Amino acid sequence: MSTTVRTRYAPSPTGFQHIGGIRTALFCYLYTRKMNGQMLLRIEDTDGSRFVPGAEEYIVESLAWCGIDLDEGPHIGGDYGPYRQSERKAIYQKYVQQLIDAGYAYYAFDTSEELTAMRERLQAAGGSSRMYDAASRMDMRNSLSLPADEVKQLLDSGAPYVVRIKVPIDEDVKMYDEVRGEVVINTKQVDDKVLLKTDGMPTYHMAVVVDDHLMKISHVFRGEEWLPSYPIHVLLYRFLGWEQPKFIHAPLILKPDGKGKLSKRAADKLGFSVFPLAWKHPIKDESSSGFREDGFFADAFINMLVFMGWNPGTTQEIFTRPELIEAFSLDRMQKGGAKFNFEKAQWFNQQYLQAKTDEELADLVLAAAPDAHKDADKTLVTKAVGLMKERMTFVKDFWENALFFFGEPASYDAKVVRKKWKEERIPLFKDLENRLGKLEEFSGEKVEKTVKDFIGETELGFGDVLQVFRVMLAGTMSGPSIFEMASILGREEVVCRMQSAAQAFDAMKAEA
Ligand code: GLU
Repeated sequence: MSTTVRTRYAPSPTGFQHIGGIRTALFCYLYTRKMNGQMLLRIEDTDGSRFVPGAEEYIVESLAWCGIDLDEGPHIGGDYGPYRQSERKAIYQKYVQQLIDAGYAYYAFDTSEELTAMRERLQAAGGSSRMYDAASRMDMRNSLSLPADEVKQLLDSGAPYVVRIKVPIDEDVKMYDEVRGEVVINTKQVDDKVLLKTDGMPTYHMAVVVDDHLMKISHVFRGEEWLPSYPIHVLLYRFLGWEQPKFIHAPLILKPDGKGKLSKRAADKLGFSVFPLAWKHPIKDESSSGFREDGFFADAFINMLVFMGWNPGTTQEIFTRPELIEAFSLDRMQKGGAKFNFEKAQWFNQQYLQAKTDEELADLVLAAAPDAHKDADKTLVTKAVGLMKERMTFVKDFWENALFFFGEPASYDAKVVRKKWKEERIPLFKDLENRLGKLEEFSGEKVEKTVKDFIGETELGFGDVLQVFRVMLAGTMSGPSIFEMASILGREEVVCRMQSAAQAFDAMKAEA
């Protein structure tokens, strides 16, 4: 095994990559970069029947969005290719033959009817024996149970077969996982898995071991769901005479209540996505939104994701990319499942958003502007962003809550108008409009002083004035500081809006 750290992210293009996969890729990436190693992408597409068009492109795009850059892969090349298992079919054959010749694997000729009959017999017998294991394999039709000449004849006649691993009887297989330490499984619990399928393609077990060896992988990062397959892989390394890489099984990502895996269905119900990017299935009538489309910054997404199975051992929560690479270590990975918390994900985004300068945020806000506001004035947007920022979690929040900066309100809060726009007060608001119209320095502070002085000189209460003033300018009761808002709008605009609003309020009263 090479002393250089070489890792791989090895997804199957059988669907759209769940955030759990991206999280595994992230751990792999952080460790690789920390160790100055190389990381490759390998597409595990040995199961042609489950191939989903576009799934590989989706993986590549998701990794790129997350800034998980790779050193080798099907889309960039490298010295250890091909990087798609479907293009490596001929490579595996040799090693399967080596296993058969050494007595570690055997041909199995059972038809699917025979397998079904056997399954039924075993079920009826009620024992613990599986269809293919050390206890039952001699009852099946394979090169261990049949006479040699019959085996030869079957092979020569082109009879369909699979190749299975011959798991030793009653042996404790020791497996080491960097997160869990040593795990021991007795081979009584391991069945004779298929290594080579009838179509001549290897199964995952065979391909993963051969490829990790040939691609000189030093550390295998994969999800906890592969832990039960680990004994097969340990045996294959031994049978092929190869030193095995180190294994790191990342914990499952659980539903927020900790009860079971976080699936698309569970997340749909809770109203969030479990995918990095939005997708639409090319054949089935299925689609999903993604964190990117939902407005998450890639860095915030990554920062949230790294805590799904790792912690720095300190109270620090926000990490830049270099800090994450520096801080990441295998010994701080957790074994237990990681509960997903969407509120926390939003919190991370908010932290990243708040950390941006008003200028940076204004650029993002402008890039996300609806058509009607594509040409909005950058200076105005920058000022407005400065005021709105602390109430924003996503860039899109700006356009949902700050339209009043770009034009008169389309409607006014009817309740406030009904309760506060009284006949006798109309001249008072005209007075306020005149005072503001004369104000030379139209700063937030000066507007505030003018409004407050005005309140002091009248019989009106704060609520009577401020609510009306706010609705005049913004249409609604929610929003940032009304004085700062007025200052950003500017004197002329404020006066104009007060006039239009007064007319609209009168009309609303008349209609009521
Ligand atoms: N191809 C497997 C998957 O898609 C990956 C297992 C591994 O990384 O070894 O989950």
